[in-house]
This record gives sequence, C-alpha cells and structure tokens, in this order.
Amino acid sequence: MDDEDPVKLDQEIRMLVRQLRAAQQEARELGLFPEDRELLECLRCDLVEDLGCDQRLTTFQRGDPGYTDTSMRFQEVQPGMFRCPQCGATLMADTGDDLDFG
Ligand SMILES: [Zn+2]
Repeated sequence: MDDEDPVKLDQEIRMLVRQLRAAQQEARELGLFPEDRELLECLRCDLVEDLGCDQRLTTFQRGDPGYTDTSMRFQEVQPGMFRCPQCGATLMADTGDDLDFG
C-alpha cells in the first residue's frame, strides 16, 4: 500500500511553495527575472526586454545589432501592467498584443 503520509506530504508542499515564493522575491530584489511573467516588448518605440545569460533583465532597442542594454527598465505600475521607460506607453504582461497608449 501507499505509505505516504498525506499530512507530511501537505507540509512538504507548503514548505516548497514558501521556498519558491521567497526565491522569486529574492530574485526581484536582485534585479533578476523571476520568470513569473512574459518578457515585455513596447510596440510603440520598439524597446524590447531581454534576459542576459546571468538571468538579469536588460532592455535593448529593436534593430540594435549589438543588443546593447539601454539600462532602462520597464516599471510595474499595477500587477501585470508595466510602463515603458522610454516612451511611457502602458503594457500588459502575459496578454501579448494588448497595448494601451493612455
Ligand atoms: Zn516604448
């Protein structure tokens, strides 16, 4: 029979969820990308968010052959809603095509 203790299993899951949330929070504080949303891309000015090889968020101007980090960062103004640092357009994360020019 199954010898898994459901109470113990439940506690382990809760602990893992706590650890995951703590890790995501820590990643945000370090400027790393916690991968809890899509990368952003401004359709108005073509500023594109990208991930460096060290998992840090960068942005580059589309068409830049060197993908040079502009050092600008999209700002989260509401959960799931971001403002482009370059042109001020508002972007929704995760929905892809939606763009509100405000
Ligand atoms: Zn923009």
